[in-house]
Amino acid sequence: STWFSEVQMGPPDAILGVTEAFKKDTNPKKINLGAGAYRDDNTQPFVLPSVREAENRVLSRKLDKEYATIIGLPEFYNKAIELALGKGSKRLAAKHNVTAQSISGTGALRIGAAFLAKFWKGNREIYIPSPSWGNHVAIFEHAGLPVNRYRYYDKDTCALDFSGLIEDLKKIPEKSIVLLHACAHNPTGVDPTLEQWREISALVKKRNLYPFIDMAYQGFATGDIDRDAQAVRTFEADGHDFCLAQSFAKNMGLYGERAGAFTVLCSDEEEAARVMSQVKILIRGLYSNPPVHGARIAAEILNNEDLRAQWLKDVKLMADRIIDVRTKLKDNLIKLGSSQNWDHIVNQIGMFCFTGLKPEQVQKLIKDHSVYLTNDGRVSMAGVTSKNVEYLAESIHKVTK
Ligand code: PLP
Repeated sequence: STWFSEVQMGPPDAILGVTEAFKKDTNPKKINLGAGAYRDDNTQPFVLPSVREAENRVLSRKLDKEYATIIGLPEFYNKAIELALGKGSKRLAAKHNVTAQSISGTGALRIGAAFLAKFWKGNREIYIPSPSWGNHVAIFEHAGLPVNRYRYYDKDTCALDFSGLIEDLKKIPEKSIVLLHACAHNPTGVDPTLEQWREISALVKKRNLYPFIDMAYQGFATGDIDRDAQAVRTFEADGHDFCLAQSFAKNMGLYGERAGAFTVLCSDEEEAARVMSQVKILIRGLYSNPPVHGARIAAEILNNEDLRAQWLKDVKLMADRIIDVRTKLKDNLIKLGSSQNWDHIVNQIGMFCFTGLKPEQVQKLIKDHSVYLTNDGRVSMAGVTSKNVEYLAESIHKVTK
């Protein structure tokens, strides 16, 4: 035998598998609704005009390629956390935050997982919504934190199971870690309302649970970066200490540049200094220091009024296009005479729509119509355009009638 003869073949990634199958399909009408990356109305990748301009400005400076610090570029991470908490944040002014640049949102979650695995003194379990982004399980389990679930989504209504969520939060052992999606929940596209967030925040406080907030889509849900930060800001206002993972993959379209930030909001400045020293030690051992190019672009946007204004327009343009195709898809299904209720297509928010399609209907969509999506019925609305929406509606109607 060889060193690795006992290594078993692992399963392929569910989402990448969808794209592979899509690529092989020769049907000219084929549609890929698997991948969670924004596309324009011609199904092409989209580089934001603000990002193009910021990149030109960065390149024109002919900067060197030296290492960043362990926690990255201050002109990036300080602005990143300000974007999340808002300019008026009291905790930021009081320097309660430990913020480090991270390898996008995944990297931020991974640093947080490593930090909690090492230092969390409460119940060493993390509770994530059911369902949640698939990678959450892998990230926390890699760090040695067992993952559990709380109820989140109601299959019958295709909406939030708020009473189930509240019941479960009441039962979770106290001092457990609870992962919350700040906005544009992946994969369901279902978010709590502000009123519901206030109730969740009060209950998390009362039950002495520790929030870990994942904000991968700030601005992408409604097109308004402040509105999409309402959950995070509610938790700050209610006096929670928490971890926060931020990604600039979606809202700046910086997917492959891996620009993100990790924050621990501490109880005071002195605690923050101690936590920061340990976060640095963890990052050093994980990957030494983060990449600079994407962070330079994001910093250029966040620090210059003209680019920032352009970026806010770019974010709104992406969010509005998605909101527009949601309406078109629902209208087309109604026009075709579908007797089902498709309100959830427009009520859900962000990149994804959890259609409620059953696995056998998904398989029919793929085989008979060349419409590719994951087996759970999740559709990336970014793959829907004004040109393919009619064909998509016809295909969905055929497999659901
Ligand atoms: N968290 C959620 C809920 C996501 O959907 C994603 C991306 O799909 C991420 C985090 C992190 O993505 P990235 O590492 O590309 O920033």
